[in-house]
Amino acid sequence: MSKYETEVDIVVVGAGVIGLAAAVELAHRNPAAQILLIEKNRGYGQEVSSRSSEVIHAGLYYPPGSLKARFCAEGNRLLYEFCTQYRIPHRCTGKLVTATVAEEAVDLQKLYQKAISNGVEVDYLEAGQVKIMEPHVQAVAALFSPTTGIIDSHRFMYALFYKARQNGVTVLFNSPLHNIEVLANSYILVFARERIKSRVVINCAGLHSDVVAAMAGLDIDETGYRLHYCRGEYYRLRRRYEFAHLVYPLPEKNGLGIHLTLDLQGGQRLGPDTRYVDTIDYSIDDSYKEKFYFAARRYLPWLEMEDLQPDYAGIRPKLQTEGGEFRDFVINEESCHGLPGFINLIGIESPGLTAALAIARYAAKLVENMFN
Ligand SMILES: Cc1cc2nc3c(=O)[nH]c(=O)nc-3n(C[C@H](O)[C@H](O)[C@H](O)COP(=O)(O)OP(=O)(O)OC[C@H]3O[C@@H](n4cnc5c(N)ncnc54)[C@H](O)[C@@H]3O)c2cc1C
Repeated sequence: MSKYETEVDIVVVGAGVIGLAAAVELAHRNPAAQILLIEKNRGYGQEVSSRSSEVIHAGLYYPPGSLKARFCAEGNRLLYEFCTQYRIPHRCTGKLVTATVAEEAVDLQKLYQKAISNGVEVDYLEAGQVKIMEPHVQAVAALFSPTTGIIDSHRFMYALFYKARQNGVTVLFNSPLHNIEVLANSYILVFARERIKSRVVINCAGLHSDVVAAMAGLDIDETGYRLHYCRGEYYRLRRRYEFAHLVYPLPEKNGLGIHLTLDLQGGQRLGPDTRYVDTIDYSIDDSYKEKFYFAARRYLPWLEMEDLQPDYAGIRPKLQTEGGEFRDFVINEESCHGLPGFINLIGIESPGLTAALAIARYAAKLVENMFN
C-alpha cells in the first residue's frame, strides 16, 4: 500500500475531449462535489482528440435510434452554440457526399433516407447542381448537408479545460492510473505514488478505456468492451484548389471513405483511410500515397500524384471488428455488473468530437441522483 489516501466525490479518467466535457458538465450540475480529472500525459488532448478531421458532423450515417445518431445531432447543435458563445474558431462549410458512377446512386438514395430518418437536414442534388456548387468535383449525384462544418478542436479543448478549472475541477497531469480496487460503495484508484478514493468513476480513457474497465474487474470480452485500433492517415494537398465544401465519397464498412476536408487556415487534406492495427504508432510516410490518389481521383479527377504529401495519422478506438457489424458507443453506468457509480465510455470514435457536449450531458445525468 502506498503512502497517501485522498477522498473525492468524482474521478474522471482521461483528459481528452470527452473527459474534459464530462468534467465541465459534472461540475456545473454538482457544484458542491469534489471532482478530479486525471490524465497520464503532460497535458490534455494529446491522443485521439488531437488527431481527428475536426469535422462537425451532421449525423447522416448512423442507424436511427442509436446513441451515435442521437448524440451527433444534439452535439452538432450544442457545439455550434458553444463555439459562438466562447468564440471558438469554426465554420459551417456544408458538405457533399458524392456518387461518382450511376451504380452508386442506389446507395446514395439509401443514405438520403437514413439521414431523413435521423431528422438531419439534407438535400439530394443532380449532377448539374453539384457542378454549380463545386465545379472541381465529379459526381453523377450528391447529398448536400448544410449543417456540417469544421472546428479548431484544440481551441475547443482549451475552452473546456479552462471552464473545468474555473468551475473547481482539479486536474492532475502525469498521473497514469494503474489499478482500481472495488469497495462496497466506492473505488480506490491506484497511482504510482498515491491512492485516491471516490464514490464515482467516469472512464473516458479513449484508446485505453477497455483496459480501465478491466482494472475494475470487468471481463471485456464477455461485456463486449474490447477495443480494436483502427488507424487513419491524412495526406495534405500541396496545390490549393477552390473548394467551398467538404467532399466525401459514399461511406465504407469501417469508415466514411477517404474524403476532402478543409481546415480553418485554408489548407486541404485527404483522409482518413481505415486500417486495423495492433499497436499505437503515429508515424507516417509515403507508403499509402497511391491508395489515396486513386480513391480521391474518383471525385477529384484533376488530382495529380505530386499533389499529395503525408500529413498525420490518428487511431480510432473501435468496438467494431474489422468488417464486423455496426457497434454503438458504450455509455453505461455499471450497476448491472455490480459496479454502482462506475461509468464506462468505451468506443467513442467518430462522431465523438461532434457529440462531446451531448455525451457529457448524458453521462452527467447518470450520476446526478447520487449527489442530489
Ligand atoms: C482519424 C480520426 C478522425 C476523426 N475525425 C472526427 C471528426 O472529424 N469529427 C468527429 O466528431 N470525431 C472525429 N473523430 C473522433 C473523435 O476524435 C473522438 O471520438 C474523440 O476525440 C475521443 O475523445 P476521448 O476523450 O474519448 O479520447 P482521447 O482524446 O484519446 O482521450 C483519452 C485520454 O485518456 C487518457 N488515459 C488513457 N488511459 C489512462 C490511464 N490509465 N490513466 C490516465 N489517463 C489515461 C489518455 O492519455 C487520453 O488523454 C476522429 C477520430 C479519429 C481517430
